[in-house]
Amino acid sequence: MKHTEIRSIETHETIAITCDVCKTRYDDPVEMQAFIQILKTGGYGNIFGDGALMECDLCQYCLKERLGDSLRIKHYQVGCRSVQIGGVVAGNIQKITERANAVFGSPEIASRWLNKPRKKFKDRSAIDLALTEAGAKVVAEELERIDSGYF
Ligand SMILES: [Zn+2]
Repeated sequence: MKHTEIRSIETHETIAITCDVCKTRYDDPVEMQAFIQILKTGGYGNIFGDGALMECDLCQYCLKERLGDSLRIKHYQVGCRSVQIGGVVAGNIQKITERANAVFGSPEIASRWLNKPRKKFKDRSAIDLALTEAGAKVVAEELERIDSGYF
């Protein structure tokens, strides 16, 4: 027989983030979610020094100011209009992305598979197809087929 008791556990939670560029401290969850974190270890011959650890937290405003011109911004397209996704569609896309990551074993390969237009999907990408409930089902089935080894 196991004997249990309720114990409080202390954890570290992020309650605010300070932007390393503008030094503004944000505690609004929406702003904190929009932060970009750079955490990268340089390799041999890195311009900052061999094996240098590079860290930077950027608020969305500084990200836009510093890198806005270089960012590849993507909006999901349906036909010729850009759509805002939310609710069920966003949930479907998240589920499909997670499943693709597991099936392909790499987010990079999964992303390539998800974004490439395919004959099988009538020249649409899996992500594009997943914008509808029926399309999301087709993509999910295709991922299961790939996972089981049938092409
Ligand atoms: Zn900033």
